[in-house]
Amino acid sequence: SPRDLSEKQDAVDSDISTDCFETLPRMQEQRAFSAEIKRLGHRHPYFLVHEGRAGASTVVDGESLINFSSYDYLGFNQHPDVHRAAVEAVGLYGVSPSASRLVAGERKIHTDLERALAEHYSQDASLSFVSGYGTNVSVIGALMGPKDLILFDSLAHNSIIAGAKLSGAKVRSFPHNDLDALDAALQRRRGLYQRVLIVAEGLYSMDGDVCDLPRLVDIKTRHRAMLMIDEAHSLGVLGRHGRGSFERFGVDPRSVDIWMGTLSKTLASCGGFVAASSTLIEFFKHNAGGFVFSVALAPAFAAAALAAHRLLLVSGERVERLRENAGLFSRLARSQGLDLGESLGEAVIPVIVGDSVRAVAVSSNLLGRGVNVQPIIYPAVRDGAARLRFFISSEHSREQIEVAVLCLAEELRRAGTEQGPVAQRGS
Ligand code: PMP
Repeated sequence: SPRDLSEKQDAVDSDISTDCFETLPRMQEQRAFSAEIKRLGHRHPYFLVHEGRAGASTVVDGESLINFSSYDYLGFNQHPDVHRAAVEAVGLYGVSPSASRLVAGERKIHTDLERALAEHYSQDASLSFVSGYGTNVSVIGALMGPKDLILFDSLAHNSIIAGAKLSGAKVRSFPHNDLDALDAALQRRRGLYQRVLIVAEGLYSMDGDVCDLPRLVDIKTRHRAMLMIDEAHSLGVLGRHGRGSFERFGVDPRSVDIWMGTLSKTLASCGGFVAASSTLIEFFKHNAGGFVFSVALAPAFAAAALAAHRLLLVSGERVERLRENAGLFSRLARSQGLDLGESLGEAVIPVIVGDSVRAVAVSSNLLGRGVNVQPIIYPAVRDGAARLRFFISSEHSREQIEVAVLCLAEELRRAGTEQGPVAQRGS
């Protein structure tokens, strides 16, 4: 009967789906890891429920914690100007951006934001996207093709790698910050490809070190390659006024072909952008999948990012405080003998633990002592190079940092952590 048939079909479907799920890559590993965390009686470190505005402090399970897991580098997520701008934009435009800008048309708030970001990088134009991740994927995916070569730093963000794969270009990584290797690769390969794109990050989000921007510009010029710099963690952080990598190195921002950034970190919003020549931006407007086939950035997010960017331009004192806080954290941690890997003492500070389960144990114990910091474990970093990653904010107090480092040092000792080897490159 049809009913028997349908029951049979259900049974087959469930078998197929169960089998499929069991063979998902890393499924077994992920389950074993979660079981081990549970067996050891630790709290699962991810997906904690925060009960309010997470910033330098946050509330989890009714308890106030010193927070190092939010990217709120300059504290703009708490700023009334940013909140007001978002609320006003909702009043003016509604919540939804309706559809892709190609069909639903422009809102002034998008063009205002894009003008400000283009000016920031001294570029002709910029373009916003609904996500930073999607920006890298669609921009790199649209720009490069099968006759081209993409060379990216081996510690580049997953979205850069995803975009590179999508493009169909030949894709190669060079060892982290090894620009001799990059130069040599270009020497060997440049003639074989129509166009070459080099991709690096301003401030690396796992290690807290920076790229050598002047040398990258020199290399890309000599080899007639394009250079794209991901400023996700650099905007608001690097340079005396927080303008980013170009300010830190005194490099003319026009010497970089594509500046990419996110709105989700210093700019206290959600979304991504690229700033480049008007020719490239016009090309992306018609060819970047995440722009053409996806909805526009929500007006409230655009307005919040624009308000945060305006604040950034007059927030030298917050940038200075961020630098002081990061310096204080680094000095205290190093004086406790902690391994900060390659960190330069900027706003992203890894404390290398080594073993993934131990990193989770220390994070869980710190949570019990009122300090929220997430472990970063394999595959986000090389196996054996697990770490606790601290995002420092200008709004952390001296006392919060002192307490956190003290608890951290005690918990690392208590967990019997021989400090793991310094994170190896190329993971
Ligand atoms: N690039 C880098 C270097 C990042 O660290 C991130 C996210 N952490 C992204 C891009 C993606 O940005 P978003 O989270 O805003 O989508």
